[in-house]
Amino acid sequence: MADMEDIYCFAGNTLDRVSERRDDREWIATLLDDPGTRMLPLRDLKPLVRGTVTPALDWQPVAPWRGQIEAGAMLVFLGIGDGRARFAIDASGAPAAPDIDTELIDVRALAPTIPTGEAAMLAEARSLIDWHARHRFCAQCGSPTQVASAGWVRRCPDCRASHFPRTDPVVIMLAVRGDHALLGRNRRRPGARFSCLAGFVEPGETLEEAVRREVREESGIRCGRVRYLASQPWPFPSSLMVGFLAEAVTEEITVDPEELAEARWFPRDDIREMVTRAAAGPDDPTRVSLPPPLAIAHQICRRWSHGFDSV
Ligand SMILES: [Zn+2]
Repeated sequence: MADMEDIYCFAGNTLDRVSERRDDREWIATLLDDPGTRMLPLRDLKPLVRGTVTPALDWQPVAPWRGQIEAGAMLVFLGIGDGRARFAIDASGAPAAPDIDTELIDVRALAPTIPTGEAAMLAEARSLIDWHARHRFCAQCGSPTQVASAGWVRRCPDCRASHFPRTDPVVIMLAVRGDHALLGRNRRRPGARFSCLAGFVEPGETLEEAVRREVREESGIRCGRVRYLASQPWPFPSSLMVGFLAEAVTEEITVDPEELAEARWFPRDDIREMVTRAAAGPDDPTRVSLPPPLAIAHQICRRWSHGFDSV
């Protein structure tokens, strides 16, 4: 549909999450008894995958995992798609993979090679399973919490608090001034990789305010108008990248040395050329470069450098 937003890696989840029925234990049990139901096992947050030339997520029937489920393995209901219920299970404790062809591949490496909708289900599964692993105790009273709502809530039996999976918004933006855009080089990343500036949204600020604050803190540049472009789930562990163009109203750069090694204004033609090179695969690490298409920063640079400049 031409009027819908661009879909980047980890977006475009086609599952119906059926959130209104997650509390219905009988219904969830019926789904688990259905031979058509499929489970995605993750071990150490990596999915089981079949095939190395064209890797695919190894969706498995429930039966081989019944023992793990009964032993209390973390199980989350992802939703229903193509008439099948889909779950993810934390197989970190499983003694061996049930299928000899199965292997584990890191999500970042795998995601660009599988269909968009599958990568989105993987993002949902990875973020949820990781959240459970890190939130076993009540943030309010410290008691161990219990899983509820088919993996979408943890409840505290002592103080009755409910805890929900987190999504942490991160603003990521290209500050532009005429035919130039501002890119930064991270202190912690070796080589000559430049990218959009980015940062977590803080309590008590809007997305637009976070964009202006981050650009000013990291580069000294002040921005005026801010325009939303697109968002992307980023399951490492639970971010939502929210992409913007920001209209810079100053030019003089003063980098925050805690955050950036360098920030520069790049002409549009240079960014377009960097987009093309980054899309073609790994490059000479000493050349100025952009992140791969997996990253929303790449997509923001691509859209702006190809003429999407009406901030
Ligand atoms: Zn509690």
